Amino acid sequence: MLIPGHLQQQLDQGLQLRRSSGYRGRYAPSPTGVLHRGNLQTALLSWLQARQRRGSWLLRIDDLDTPRNRPGAIEAIEADLRWLGLDWDGPIILQSLRKEVYDAWLSWLQLSGQLFACRCSRRQLAGLARYPGTCRTAGHHWGWLNERLPSWRLQVPDSDPEGSGDVVLRRSDGFIAYQLATVLDELTLGITDVVRGQDLLQALPAQRSIYRALNQTPPRFHHGPLVCDGSGNKLSKREASAGLAALRKQGMDAADVVGLLASGLDLVDEGSRLTARELLECLTQDPIHAVDS
Ligand code: GLU
Repeated sequence: MLIPGHLQQQLDQGLQLRRSSGYRGRYAPSPTGVLHRGNLQTALLSWLQARQRRGSWLLRIDDLDTPRNRPGAIEAIEADLRWLGLDWDGPIILQSLRKEVYDAWLSWLQLSGQLFACRCSRRQLAGLARYPGTCRTAGHHWGWLNERLPSWRLQVPDSDPEGSGDVVLRRSDGFIAYQLATVLDELTLGITDVVRGQDLLQALPAQRSIYRALNQTPPRFHHGPLVCDGSGNKLSKREASAGLAALRKQGMDAADVVGLLASGLDLVDEGSRLTARELLECLTQDPIHAVDS
């Protein structure tokens, strides 16, 4: 089914931005708490890559999952990035203000017959590596039934090489899923390169399946190294102890912190002190060392 004109126009605008900018990157934190050292390290990597290519770097706030948003988190993210000297281009993009875009695409995908309503419970699907297609042909009602909403899944062909299974595009709590919002944002905002943390590598197959369903070329993806705590666990935004405030309390200034983050990326020696701009200027190679996909 043909993509209607107003949606095609959004894609065309994105394509034009991609072509005219050469490089357009983004950093897309969720405002669920304070940025921790791992988030900051990824932000630095993403910024460096964009600036080294003389490209744009957008700041997008993934605030669709409203129950998880924390008051003041957006302001804190902005302040932290500024303090580190990581400047972004244009206004901050809030996903919560782009719901119309996501809803319009979701409706089109539904109309074009690519979605189905899934009423499987979390318990039913627990332990399965991928969704087994249970509700594909059940013809479930799209709305409330017995006080429950279904999730809306994209029917991904079994031949799809990603093996992602049928991706949830609208969650059973009615929220647009991150997977759909992020794909639509990269496309309509003209993102050429996504640089993010290794933890999101597991989200890539689902995202690639959505690009395929929309018949669009994905951006390039790079997944940078994570920072772990003393016991080898991934840091969490909920632990404020891992944020900038704690580092500042130890007496570190922005140059110390940039040095610390850059040494985590193997770009400088441990104990280096330099500003983000100085780091950018002294780079002799591509800042991305981590696994590319
Ligand atoms: N908002 C997502 C997160 O903070 C990241 C999205 C992305 O970079 O694709 O985990």
